[in-house]
Amino acid sequence: MEGKIIKGIAGFYYVYVKTFGLYECKAKGIFRNQKIKPLVGDNVIIDVIDENEKKGNISDILERKNELIRPAVANVDQALVIFAAADPAPNLNLLDRFLILMLKQQVDTVICFNKKDIVTEKEIRLLEEAYIKCGYKVIFTSTYTEDGIETLRELLKDKTTVLAGPSGVGKSSIINNIHPDANMQTGMISEKIKRGKHTTRHSELFYIQGNTFIMDTPGFSSLYIQDMEKEELKNYFAEFHEYDGFCRFNGCAHLNEPGCAVKEALKEGKISKIRYNNYTEIYEEIKNQKRY
Ligand code: GDP
Ligand code: ZN
Repeated sequence: MEGKIIKGIAGFYYVYVKTFGLYECKAKGIFRNQKIKPLVGDNVIIDVIDENEKKGNISDILERKNELIRPAVANVDQALVIFAAADPAPNLNLLDRFLILMLKQQVDTVICFNKKDIVTEKEIRLLEEAYIKCGYKVIFTSTYTEDGIETLRELLKDKTTVLAGPSGVGKSSIINNIHPDANMQTGMISEKIKRGKHTTRHSELFYIQGNTFIMDTPGFSSLYIQDMEKEELKNYFAEFHEYDGFCRFNGCAHLNEPGCAVKEALKEGKISKIRYNNYTEIYEEIKNQKRY
């Protein structure tokens, strides 16, 4: 039977097989010769050992489409990052870090601002302008009015989505809104995040329906950009690209160099101040990371 690994704990892999349910499996022998280790998200072939006890063996891992390191998961189609448009005010620096980390791993990100019901059109436009300009899909939702929920449902359908966002923004409410019968209760995600650093965290995929899976990303509050040269950072800000070639200096970092076309665009309001400020802040951080 073919299924998907949704969780791995202490040598056991929990494989979800459509219509048959969840099997507790071991990965026997065959993997020792291969360099490949089963990952959450892997599509696998299992041999059922005991149908009553729902136990089996993984006999093969099907070819991976991709493999994320943070969080450790295979076959991801996209990421969905959720912030509240207000209450709590969105931490756009954190958002930009997340976008960089996903870009670096070549995963498309959809940005969702929830709690649309408590913000003005003007606030919505400001957020939209900053992020649509750099090529992201941005949606606004409200779990109270159900505005945007259908759009989100369509976006998630039949995909494996990595879900991220700080707690309190309405992640669990959104998931419940999308599929009331999904096995995810309000507060469940937040609970996991609140558990703290002492508990070992396990990546886990939640089965929603059909081929729709969601993976919650814990530990969202500390997104450090690692393994990146400061000179590389500007590549992750798509809205800079059209100006990049017009700076006076080759390799302009768009900070204090004279004749910088990006700073000119910023002055003219063509580049979002919020995004630019996050760029300079993260740039400084990367610069200071290097200790000699
Ligand atoms: P999580 O921690 O991200 O999973 O957030 P929850 O789903 O537990 O929601 C956090 C709080 O935000 C709760 O008090 C919800 O009632 C509230 N909330 C969720 N969605 C919305 C929304 O669309 N609009 C408003 N105004 N509040 C919301
Ligand atoms: Zn420049």
